[in-house]
Amino acid sequence: MEPELAAELSSILASARAHLEQEAALGGPGLPIGDALERLAARASTAASPEPPRVAAPDPASAPTAMPNVPLPVPVTPPPADVSERAVRLSQLAGEAATCTACALHQMRKQAVFARGNPSAEIVFVGEGPGAEEDRLGEPFVGPAGQLLDRMIAAMGYARDDVYICNVVKCRPPENRTPRPEEGIACSRFLKPQLALVAPKVIVALGRCAAENLGVARAEGSWRGRWGSYEGVPVMPTYHPAYLLRSPEQKRIVWDDLKLVMGRLGKPVPPPKGRA
Ligand code: SF4
Repeated sequence: MEPELAAELSSILASARAHLEQEAALGGPGLPIGDALERLAARASTAASPEPPRVAAPDPASAPTAMPNVPLPVPVTPPPADVSERAVRLSQLAGEAATCTACALHQMRKQAVFARGNPSAEIVFVGEGPGAEEDRLGEPFVGPAGQLLDRMIAAMGYARDDVYICNVVKCRPPENRTPRPEEGIACSRFLKPQLALVAPKVIVALGRCAAENLGVARAEGSWRGRWGSYEGVPVMPTYHPAYLLRSPEQKRIVWDDLKLVMGRLGKPVPPPKGRA
């Protein structure tokens, strides 16, 4: 094996091992291919000459600590056909989020904010995280941005409770900052099964943070207005209503994105104002 290739392989295996060990510390399956990893790492390390790449020793300060209130990742299974059963399982998930300490955001929350709306909605809106009002009331999108979202939902022909609304993270980031990548990853233990249980036909990602956490933000060009996919569900990324409050001239662009959603769902697109 080429020494450079072997060195690179050794580094990748070390990273994989560290990741799996962290998963195990969080209650995940751990190292199901542990022996194979060890053997591969040993071979790669031997082949990499004259000196194998150094892998930094883990920083004890960042080592995973015991987290008694960290729920295990919920296995994603097909949603129950029975709507009330879906509601029960979503309610169980919300209960787990209420006591979750999997990331630092739990430290300053008043309460976790799980979702609102129809547990078998055909459309789900995903924002980034609760704000001050949401943290106080325990419901997502209830401040001015939420009121604007409600008007957008009404313009699409839905009642407020026809749709399902949630966020990437369930606890309020301090000063309403954008959730950090590690916080989004930690909270995917809720978002992923939550979306699997609702099983919508379409997801609308509100803002870049939601688009990135759903894996549909493109690295180049505009990140909004083009279809992506999350676990097989079509996702339309568009601007967050809070941004529209600051930049109302962008509302027309968002409406164009929402018209694509309505077309996908077979809903009639209302004519422009002024035309009956
Ligand atoms: S944001 Fe999510 S992962 Fe972090 S503590 Fe709250 S519920 Fe847990």
